[in-house]
Amino acid sequence: MSPLDTLRSPLAFLQDRLSAIPHVDLLAAEQEWWKIEGVAISDTIDHAATPWVRMFDRTGRRVDEILYPREYQTMLRKGYRSGVVWRAFEEKSLLPTFLLMYVISFYDPGICCPYTVSLGTALPLAKHGSTELQARFLPQLLRKGDSVWQGATWMTEIGGGSDLGAGVKTIAWPAGDRWLLTGDKYFASNAAAELAVVAARPEGAPAGVRGLALFLVPRYREDGTLNRFIRRLKDKIATRSVPTGEIELRDSEAYLLGQADAGIYLILEVLNLSRVANSVVSVALAQRAMADALSYAECRTAFGKRILDHPLLRRQFDERLRSLRSAFALAWESVRLLDQVWMERPPYSERYHLFRLVAHLAKYWTAEFAVDTAKWAMEVHGGLGTLAEYGAERWLREAMILAIWEGTSHRQILDGLEVMERKQAHKTLFAQLAEVAPAAESREMESEVERLLSLPPDQKEAEAEAVFKRLAVLSADCLSRKYP
Ligand SMILES: Cc1cc2nc3c(=O)[nH]c(=O)nc-3n(C[C@H](O)[C@H](O)[C@H](O)COP(=O)(O)OP(=O)(O)OC[C@H]3O[C@@H](n4cnc5c(N)ncnc54)[C@H](O)[C@@H]3O)c2cc1C
Repeated sequence: MSPLDTLRSPLAFLQDRLSAIPHVDLLAAEQEWWKIEGVAISDTIDHAATPWVRMFDRTGRRVDEILYPREYQTMLRKGYRSGVVWRAFEEKSLLPTFLLMYVISFYDPGICCPYTVSLGTALPLAKHGSTELQARFLPQLLRKGDSVWQGATWMTEIGGGSDLGAGVKTIAWPAGDRWLLTGDKYFASNAAAELAVVAARPEGAPAGVRGLALFLVPRYREDGTLNRFIRRLKDKIATRSVPTGEIELRDSEAYLLGQADAGIYLILEVLNLSRVANSVVSVALAQRAMADALSYAECRTAFGKRILDHPLLRRQFDERLRSLRSAFALAWESVRLLDQVWMERPPYSERYHLFRLVAHLAKYWTAEFAVDTAKWAMEVHGGLGTLAEYGAERWLREAMILAIWEGTSHRQILDGLEVMERKQAHKTLFAQLAEVAPAAESREMESEVERLLSLPPDQKEAEAEAVFKRLAVLSADCLSRKYP
């Protein structure tokens, strides 16, 4: 069997990379379901059956209902039933969630968005919600059947997602045992979710990110009427099954999570969870693009033999497989670290800061790798790669979303710089890598990072990308020696 054969199945790749995998039977069943049923549903929705909004019912009452093809619900509910959210809490571990996400996103990267944001709602509620709030809402998010509630995480507004401190204009007013929120969310995925966590500024709170707080916003008010409105859905290049909308909050009932003045920590906890999911999905997508390229290269002939057997292309496959393994190792390290720190609250431990650095490196590098691999896989298909019927073009569209949402690459680099500068997280990283990194290379990298951190602010930002990239690649390559 050629090492390239592991590309054909997400579970085979996971088994090749990890020494112990919980729930192998569950993952095998998930993979089988996708091969037999899920792929056809996912392809159809991507090409011809995106969700749409029905604003009013037949009596003229505002309902803001999102309509999907029935098969979408089958595909979506499958992952919830398998435990992509509830298992994390029942088993007190995030590993089953991310293993499931790896298998699922090999077939449909977009469907992991609803799962991620549902987990990103359940987690702050479980960690920071009052006992009463948890009793009222958490069980619905953790249901094992089809009546499970979904979550959503809405921060971005029209003014921009990178600079949340300036971009969030939504205001929260206290109103007895709850708050009332007014504002507009401009990129709101999973728009029909029963619950959302929303960033808003309590009236009178300071400007900037320090004045933001995190609120839980149900879809319906306590009197049963709509609590938030969907202005329209976005027409996107990818993740086309996910309803991403513009949401209007108008005196919407909301419940504060944690302390108002610690809101930015809660927001970042939610974002960092999504960044880890994004990394896992990016690697699975890259594997999928390579698997499709491999199948094609085995059948297409040129100059008298299969294109796979031409030395130049064969070398590319072998090298990219090595890079895929490294990208996986970096993503999995972010999963492993998150699994250790996900219940921490501020003030965080040194391990938490290490997690943050690895999550920024992983989000940045795996998404860049996914885009590059999807482009390459399309090229392996030649002109046919540009045709929708071959599938390769979809992976490029999907990969572009992964590089942008949950913070673009610029954001990851700058946030990575911040955690190195303020928390010295790179020192912990180098100490962790010591057992697998060549000493000279590691020393050289560390002094490069220190030199960068000592530069004046503008020069530091301007020169950050090359150093961050080298740090990501070095970490990924070294970590790949740890797995399996
Ligand atoms: C399909 C999709 C679904 C989404 N779903 C959600 C959702 O459910 N919830 C949610 O909250 N958001 C969501 N988003 C929004 C997403 O998080 C933002 O698009 C992202 O954070 C970037 O923000 P922006 O688009 O406003 O770009 P901007 O913040 O306007 O940035 C524009 C460009 O400037 C760059 N830039 C900004 N600051 C700097 C700097 N200091 N240095 C260098 N470059 C900089 C950015 O990296 C980017 O390249 C979604 C986005 C997409 C595409």
